[in-house]
Order: sequence, then C-alpha cells, then structure tokens
Amino acid sequence: MNAHHKNGPQPQSGILDIRPYVPGKVGAKGGKIYKLSANESAVGASPKALAAYAESARDMERYPDGSVAALREAIAQRHGLRVQNIVCGAGSDELLQLLAHAYLAPGDEAIYSQFGFLVYPIAISSNGATAVIAPEKNHRADVGEILARVTAKTKMVFLANPNNPTGTYLTAEEIARLHQGLPAHVLLVLDGAYAEFVMANDYDAGVALVENHSNVVMTRTFSKIYGLASLRLGWAYCPPAIADVLNRIRGPFNVSVPAMMAGIAALEDQKFFDDALAFNTKWMTWLTVEITKLGLNITPSVGNFLLLHFDSAGQAQRADAFLSDRGLILRAVAAYGLPAALRLSVGTEEANRFVVNKLEEFLKWR
Ligand SMILES: *Cc1c(COP(=O)(O)O)cnc(C)c1O
Repeated sequence: MNAHHKNGPQPQSGILDIRPYVPGKVGAKGGKIYKLSANESAVGASPKALAAYAESARDMERYPDGSVAALREAIAQRHGLRVQNIVCGAGSDELLQLLAHAYLAPGDEAIYSQFGFLVYPIAISSNGATAVIAPEKNHRADVGEILARVTAKTKMVFLANPNNPTGTYLTAEEIARLHQGLPAHVLLVLDGAYAEFVMANDYDAGVALVENHSNVVMTRTFSKIYGLASLRLGWAYCPPAIADVLNRIRGPFNVSVPAMMAGIAALEDQKFFDDALAFNTKWMTWLTVEITKLGLNITPSVGNFLLLHFDSAGQAQRADAFLSDRGLILRAVAAYGLPAALRLSVGTEEANRFVVNKLEEFLKWR
C-alpha cells in the first residue's frame, strides 16, 4: 500500500524517489558474531574518550556550548587548521546533508562518481536536485568523466577520498585537476572519512584547497579511526562563507556535551591513534595478501576495508550466506551497483583469521 496520499502534506520533490539508506546487517542467528560490515574500528575507541563521555554524562540538564568551541579548538590544534573555519555536526552525514540543503534546489544538478557513497544521492534528491553519475574506471573515480558532466546547472560535486565502498583514492594532483576544471560557483565536497588511514604520500585530504579557494569543503569523522561511530560526531573544514552558511542552518545544539568531551579526549590520545593506525595497516596488508592467495580479486584499498570481487552475483550471494551462517557479517554492495562483490571491514585478529579461513573453505566447497 502506498502510504502517501495525494491530498495530504507533500514532501519536497525528489524525496519519494529516494531509496532509503540500508545499513550493513547487524547480526546472524546464534553463536559469536563478527560484524565486518560497517567499517567500524576493530580496536574500538580510546579508553580516555570513553571515560570523558561517562564523566560528562553525570550532568545533563544544561545545553551544550552551541559553538562547540573547545572541540573545534582541539581539532584546529591537532590538524593545524583555522578554528573559525571548522563546523561540527552529528556525524559527517549531517554536514553532508546540510551542505546539500544549503546549496541545492530543484532544477540543480550535483555530480558523484559511479560507486560513490550512497549518502550523496540521498542528500541530493532530498533537496529536489538531480544526481548525475560519473562513470569510474577500475572502481576509481575519474576526473575527466566528472568534469565532462558539469553543466550550467551543476552546483556541487561530492567525492569521497578515499571512497567507500571501493577503497580507492585520487591523488593530490588529480584532486587539484578536478578543482581546476570546476567553475568557481560549483562546490567541491571532499569527504575524508577514511583520510587518517591513508599511507600513500601522493594523497592529500584537501586542507590547502579549502584554505585557498572559496568552493571546496572537506568533511571528516570520528566514526572510523577514532572508533566512535555510535557517538555521531564529525566536522567540516570550510571557506569562511560556507562555515557561515552552515552555522546559520545547523541545529543550534547539534553536538552533545558527551560527544564533544569524548571527541576532545580522542584527539588528545595520540598513542591510541597511532596504535589503531598501525593495527589497520598491518591487517589490511595481511588480509589483502591472504585473500588474494585464495584467488579472489581485491580492489587495492587505502581505507579500513576491502572490496572482494567474486565470479558472479550468485557466487557473491552464496559467499555472503555461507559466511553469515558462520557469524561473519560482510557488506553486500549490490545497492552500489556491485552485485558480484562484498565489502569486508578490517576486524580483530581473530575475526580476520576466521574470515580468511572461512573464505578458503567456501571457495573450495563452492
Ligand atoms: C563512514 C562514512 C562517513 C562517516 O559518516 P558519519 O556520519 O561521520 O558516521 C562519511 N563518508 C563516508 C564515505 C563513509 O564511509
């Protein structure tokens, strides 16, 4: 039954065309569950962040500081940024949505790449704008294809760098070329949710582009390397005019005190961060080597997850079912147009060894 009545309140055009975001599965029946479907941290959060959260939860009757000054200061210090150009949000998802809301209207177009993060088309359609998809080559965004789709109606380009679910990235040179090819009124959003994991020295998350131009925003999150996905905390680094716009339209208290305190403590725990990064690098390499040995094709990834390619959509589905029956939850990515692939997040040592073992068993048994 269609729940929407033509005589009732009508949403913004485009909203009813949205396919709601479907998060990775949470669990399977019985036994131990290894959730490797949401790119969550395998090592959790800094105990200092958890303690700061618990401490601030003793006292909840007051509104937060709406400007989240202490957290923005901590982010600015950590990354060497201009504090007034940082805007925080309830996850970077909120900031992506706010950017789309501020800069898109019906009739406008916004471009994202073929296997780009599915929050982008949702944010674009929510505002009645048209999502334009630029084809990728080898599961990698293509600057030429993006620029070829810029029209007089284009207002935004969304690019996750590195991208989820492919794990690929564009080099600093490619991003500079992309930016150079865009008209000054087109806003380039560089989503750096996985920026902290990237070891490649030709990568750049985009700080200088933001500081030197009026049409580039970088978004970042505490959900991935900091292991605080449940907290809902992210930030955007913006040119002054865009920070001003976001500050006008965001909820006045969109970041809670416990989130702010946990975020600050996480930023201060450099040792925990370094260990989390070393853990990821070690196990990404191990998983890539071991799974390649099993004969599966893997898209080279610089994030905390791998895209595994099977022979067919059917085989990927059978692998997904085989693994879930054994408590291993991977992410099906058919909604991204990748029906023959599964995405695997780096897990604990136990989970990583177990998934390789069970994949081997599946591939023999298939
Ligand atoms: C996980 C992820 C985010 C982070 O979203 P939050 O709302 O900050 O949790 C943003 N972009 C991409 C591409 C992601 O994979």
